[in-house]
Amino acid sequence: MFKNSIIRLFELKGRNAIVTGGSKGIGYQIAIDLANKGANVFVWSRNKEQNEKAVKSLPLIHKDQKHIGILCDLSKTNKLEESINEIKKQISLFNNDNIDNKIGILVHSAGITHSELLFKKSSNNNDNNYHSINDNGNEIITTNLLSPILITQSFLKDMMRLQYGRIIFIGSVVSEMGNKGQTIYSSSKGGLNGFSKSLSKEIGQFNCTSNVISPGFIDTDMSKPFINNEQLINSIPLKRIGNTKDISKTVLFLIESDYITGQNIRVDGGLY
Ligand code: NDP
Repeated sequence: MFKNSIIRLFELKGRNAIVTGGSKGIGYQIAIDLANKGANVFVWSRNKEQNEKAVKSLPLIHKDQKHIGILCDLSKTNKLEESINEIKKQISLFNNDNIDNKIGILVHSAGITHSELLFKKSSNNNDNNYHSINDNGNEIITTNLLSPILITQSFLKDMMRLQYGRIIFIGSVVSEMGNKGQTIYSSSKGGLNGFSKSLSKEIGQFNCTSNVISPGFIDTDMSKPFINNEQLINSIPLKRIGNTKDISKTVLFLIESDYITGQNIRVDGGLY
């Protein structure tokens, strides 16, 4: 029956991808899966040793494939330009006809959280300062929301010219569900939901998509304080904490899907 049919497996050979937070946890699994599909992966994080280890360990499945580490702190927006230019320069050096010379896939996975009740969160220990949140709050907003917006903006024209773009934000189910102690974190993730939705309407005509994946509790360093909490596990309909593969599978699904955009896909075992 299948004798004459061509089975075209989904592959990403020649595509260039950035994975922020690609050195660890969810982002690392995404980087592995993209590399396994043949993409060139830029692994963006802060810690040098961990970044180098991650880049070295990524699969190389064809001879033209390259993976490159980018060290840059997303909480410092004045450092972004240098790294963005470095990525663009590296791609221009790939110098291979079979390789796109632009970023086509952008996965924002880097993120941080600090649990703190808002009424206890005085601005820089000064209750009369109403001009900023506090250092932790500012760091969360800059890392989780502002920098992803700035990075996306800097690659948009390239994606439009390429007529191919897959932008994926790793949000969080708490952006819709809420969580005590996470007012600022959930604001940052909720901001991504709104940003991605509007962006999808601006870039669709260029064959570019933008989606959010909202994880529930996933087994990584970030969720360590919760992963053995029986009560929490019982509140999840699928009765388990998620794993990084649960998220990376959904990333690949969204990259392969040509007709899904502006969505927020919850991958949370039914938690919300
Ligand atoms: P991890 O702590 O395991 O990994 C975080 C990654 O982000 C690391 O690679 C880290 O690199 C990078 N990173 C953090 N801050 C910065 C920064 N300022 N600049 C550059 N890189 C940075 O987290 P997870 O994999 O668990 O989380 C990934 C995403 O998923 C986050 O956005 C998180 O909010 C979201 N999420 C996670 C959930 C979970 O249960 N784990 C639940 C819901 C959402 P380095 O170590 O070098 O700083």
